Amino acid sequence: MLILDGKAAAANLRNKLKKEIAGQLGEVGRKPGLAVILVGQDPASAVYVRNKEKNCHEVGISSFGYRLDSDTSQSDLEDLIQKLNLDPDVDGILLQLPLPGHLDSQKCLELILPEKDVDGFHPENVGRLTLGLPGFRSCTPAGIMTLLQAYDLSVTGKDCVIIGRSNIVGKPLALMLLGSNATVTVCHSRTSDLKGHVLQADFVFAAVGRPGFVTADMVKPGAVVVDVGINRTEDGLVGDCDFEGIREKALAMTPVPGGVGPMTIAQLLSNTVDSWKKRTSQT
Ligand code: NAD
Repeated sequence: MLILDGKAAAANLRNKLKKEIAGQLGEVGRKPGLAVILVGQDPASAVYVRNKEKNCHEVGISSFGYRLDSDTSQSDLEDLIQKLNLDPDVDGILLQLPLPGHLDSQKCLELILPEKDVDGFHPENVGRLTLGLPGFRSCTPAGIMTLLQAYDLSVTGKDCVIIGRSNIVGKPLALMLLGSNATVTVCHSRTSDLKGHVLQADFVFAAVGRPGFVTADMVKPGAVVVDVGINRTEDGLVGDCDFEGIREKALAMTPVPGGVGPMTIAQLLSNTVDSWKKRTSQT
């Protein structure tokens, strides 16, 4: 079975971005800038943010970190977003989710200027994806599409089954696959006969958040399996799929860790560089 090495594909993408930034820095006069807002002390979020900042540094993107107390008010957070919207050195704004319960995430996401929305969560960018228009794409599904392309795995005419219908993974992934001419089925917690759907899939995408949810008996021989899940267990980080069982049947599969996760961050950097190029060519 072919292991879809997201770590290596992400490193390739970062190298490409690094060269692109270095090549245009003289002309543009400033590095790309990503503002990262973290509210509160959630340990998993803190790890993600540190990782994103480290990756930015590696390719030559300036990261501007904003660590806010967990009792930050909605209006203070909105003021910060407005300030960053106006800051000419900021090309992308990332609001690390989830926010503490008293804050309105959707309202904050909608406040980020669509042209700085490098996470692709603003309704305008989601609408653009739906219509097949250019715009920022949600990083996890866009990273998955880049990974499949890196291995020349075309979804054209293929039966693709997604398990999970979240706004950040399942739904945008369905639209991207459709845009690449796949036949798409989205399964979720109310789907009857999940196994029947998954068994006929040429490509399976698991984004559920439950370790070992997809087992070998659910997978068609020769299928491609993309494991989006990140679950913290006593055995460390695991995905949603039974990797050892499925590897006997699948044509190709992503590991966890080292599959979709690194691609998500690389895509965020790529979106930031795209914003930088677009914004600096307008001035
Ligand atoms: P979520 O947690 O918002 O929702 C889970 C989805 O699974 C729902 O749509 C639900 O309908 C579906 N589901 C739950 N039980 C089910 C069942 N029994 N049968 C079928 N479907 C069922 O989803 P999310 O935010 O997309 O996260 C999913 C997983 O992906 C999590 O483990 C998350 O940590 C991970 N994730 C990874 C990355 C990455 O970069 N690798 C990015 C985002 C999310």
